[in-house]
Amino acid sequence: MTRRIERALVTGGAGFVGSHLDELLLARGCEVVVLDDFSTAAADTVAELRARAGVELIRHDVTEPFVVPGRLDVVFHLASPASPPDYLRLPIETLRAGALGTAHALDVAVRAGARFVLASTSEVYGDPEVHPQPEDYRGCVNPIGPRSVYDEAKRYAEALTAAYRRERGANTGIARLFNTYGPRMRAQDGRAVPTFVRQALAGEPLTVAGSGTQTRSLCYVDDTVRGLLALAVSDVPGPVNLGNPEELTVRDLADAVRAAAGVTAGTSAGVTFVDAAEDDPRRRCPDISLARRELGWRPQVGLAEGLTRTIRWFAARHERSGAVS
Ligand code: NAD
Ligand code: UDP
Repeated sequence: MTRRIERALVTGGAGFVGSHLDELLLARGCEVVVLDDFSTAAADTVAELRARAGVELIRHDVTEPFVVPGRLDVVFHLASPASPPDYLRLPIETLRAGALGTAHALDVAVRAGARFVLASTSEVYGDPEVHPQPEDYRGCVNPIGPRSVYDEAKRYAEALTAAYRRERGANTGIARLFNTYGPRMRAQDGRAVPTFVRQALAGEPLTVAGSGTQTRSLCYVDDTVRGLLALAVSDVPGPVNLGNPEELTVRDLADAVRAAAGVTAGTSAGVTFVDAAEDDPRRRCPDISLARRELGWRPQVGLAEGLTRTIRWFAARHERSGAVS
């Protein structure tokens, strides 16, 4: 099925991924209701959204019940801290956003007869023993470790979404997003790409955590939000992985950022090793066969191109504000 979307709700729509999803929806002629408490949103992005025609911006915490009057065709539920330093700083808030926030967003979708799309995460696989990760792999999560506040919140959110589908006839789709990067990430959000870009542009050493041999597979944000939209217009229940299978070590990522930023790559100069994060997954790479088959989706922007676009955006911002903050 191909669903027509005239009006959509995006919880967390003032954040990094959400703001790109808003733009894609607006470009398709859709009205967008953004519901966000701005807790981890960039002030610039919020200001841009306020001025954007076609966007209705509501400041609200999803852990409190809410109603959105009028037609809604899709509810995209993205509201949650997502960067490790953010969710480690906001552990209870993160669990509440995944639990209460997901319930409230599901209720709004059911009331409106809208399709519900959950932005889940590759973190549901924890530190995986299966590689690459297909959707039927059930994961290896430490339920009481520091990262569990995010991983288990998302696992609960998936369970609740599946239960609403079975018990309340909700039309739901679960997307498991793998690491996504691009313009509008906060330079200080602590994730690897914005941290490395900020450091490279400032001429500071890039802080590689642990040995740097842990891997990630990075998806450019335009590809990720195209995947979310493809899931929204379908009736695919998922979970479906959305990610770019181009896997690399964090050490190689640091070099790729330095190269893309015009710094000589390949030597240890310019890189400093810092303590590894607790329970840091050692390998992560999506199996995207399902997304290819069911959604006709695949990523189109390679790492070098995506990093170049991201660095260009950060550099322009740096020029405007005098600092990459
Ligand atoms: P982000 O921090 O930039 O955006 C999250 C947004 O949610 C922010 O605008 C924040 O203010 C808002 N928010 C947080 N708690 C809220 C609450 N209680 N009520 C209302 N709004 C709230 O993060 P992001 O990278 O854009 O991630 C967006 C979603 O995608 C998250 O659900 C995240 O788990 C998921 N995801 C992202 C990635 C990634 O690599 N970026 C990977 C996997 C999953
Ligand atoms: N990382 C790093 N230096 C940093 C920030 C992160 O080496 O300054 C590492 C981090 O320990 C992890 C990987 O990069 O191994 C990806 O981290 P990120 O926070 O971007 O995403 P996630 O851990 O959620 O996959």
